[in-house]
Amino acid sequence: MSAAGKGTDGALLRVSGLGAGYGGMPVLDSVSLEVRPAEIVAVVGSNGAGKTTLLRALSRVIAATGQIEFKGQDLVPMTADQVFCEGLVQVPEGRQLFDRMTVEDNLLMAADRRSDKAVALEDLRRMYALFPRLGERRRQLAGSMSGGEQQMCAMARALMARPILLAIDEMSLGLAPVVIEQLMEVLARIRDEGVTVLLVEQDVHLALSVADRGYVMETGRIVHEGAASDLIDDPAVRKAYLGL
Ligand code: ATP
Repeated sequence: MSAAGKGTDGALLRVSGLGAGYGGMPVLDSVSLEVRPAEIVAVVGSNGAGKTTLLRALSRVIAATGQIEFKGQDLVPMTADQVFCEGLVQVPEGRQLFDRMTVEDNLLMAADRRSDKAVALEDLRRMYALFPRLGERRRQLAGSMSGGEQQMCAMARALMARPILLAIDEMSLGLAPVVIEQLMEVLARIRDEGVTVLLVEQDVHLALSVADRGYVMETGRIVHEGAASDLIDDPAVRKAYLGL
């Protein structure tokens, strides 16, 4: 994976005028945002706002128009595989683990591009330190684990790829508060270790409580942006998303 770099303006990821959709139906309407190195940035919004579509467009899984600059490079002409190799790695909604493989094999799959097995094993040890539960369950089939454990496995698998920017789709969906709290602590920890995080969440309060900055998305457009603490206090955001 390439060394961490950034654009000339200090942003790690800079998106402008991004459009994307499905079968000729537009979903994203000129989305612009930026993520700076070692930030946690939240993109929040209701069901169907276009958050997953945004991540798919960034990862080049679906076609997009506009600009996507990552480490100063244009991602638009790249394939999904190239984007992954550049260090923009997704934890997809629904986790997409290999259910019939063990936790450990799921994690090692992510490292199999690496020729140095010793490094992969060292990364595996780091993952078990970050998620002790996965260490205890290393021989268990991924599909037989709880939702929270599967989310940990999906995050660890993505981290095994040594991302520069980790993009996580609906991390908290369906999970118990105690598990969500553990995952939030992991996010803060990996950010402190230098991994930049783009967190896409329907749970607006949760995401803004861990993020440095946030963007609120409605029907494919960014309608509010700012420091996460300011957004939590913004009367329009509070009324629309926090029931306050
Ligand atoms: P959720 O949290 O429910 O996933 P979201 O904010 O991530 O919501 P998207 O999944 O990006 O929203 O969906 C945005 C719009 O795009 C919705 O109207 C949805 O129906 C549509 N859409 C999503 N995936 C597809 C697809 N594969 N084909 C056609 N339309 C799609």
